Amino acid sequence: MNCIFCKIIKKQVTSDIIFENERIIVFKDIEPIAPVHLLIVPKKHILSINQLEDEDKELIGEMFLIAREVSKQEKVDKNGYRLIFNVGEDAGQTVDHLHLHLIGGKKLPWA
Ligand code: 5GP
Ligand code: ZN
Repeated sequence: MNCIFCKIIKKQVTSDIIFENERIIVFKDIEPIAPVHLLIVPKKHILSINQLEDEDKELIGEMFLIAREVSKQEKVDKNGYRLIFNVGEDAGQTVDHLHLHLIGGKKLPWA
């Protein structure tokens, strides 16, 4: 499968990994839009939120718990940060492998 995030997960493509367990990997976005810009990615190849299944409930929950942990690690927890899922074309989703953006380290404009 020609999926860049699957390649990162398999370590066929290098990335700056800051957390990993059996189900989830977190790495730095290659084109950061803020001082802290991480991608929280399930190892399971799910296309987007639209393709989430009931069985993914715990996985999605764990992604948010990991977001909480890495926000501390990156020291943005106190000042705040934004968590974003882009879904589909209108949202500008460019990688068809589910990912949660964690963005912070500066005052973020809305919309
Ligand atoms: P989307 O626009 O789909 O929500 O976000 C995809 C994100 O993945 C973008 O912010 C983009 O910069 C990032 N990205 C795309 N290819 C790579 C890559 O090869 N390595 C890393 N670290 N990030 C990538
Ligand atoms: Zn994938």
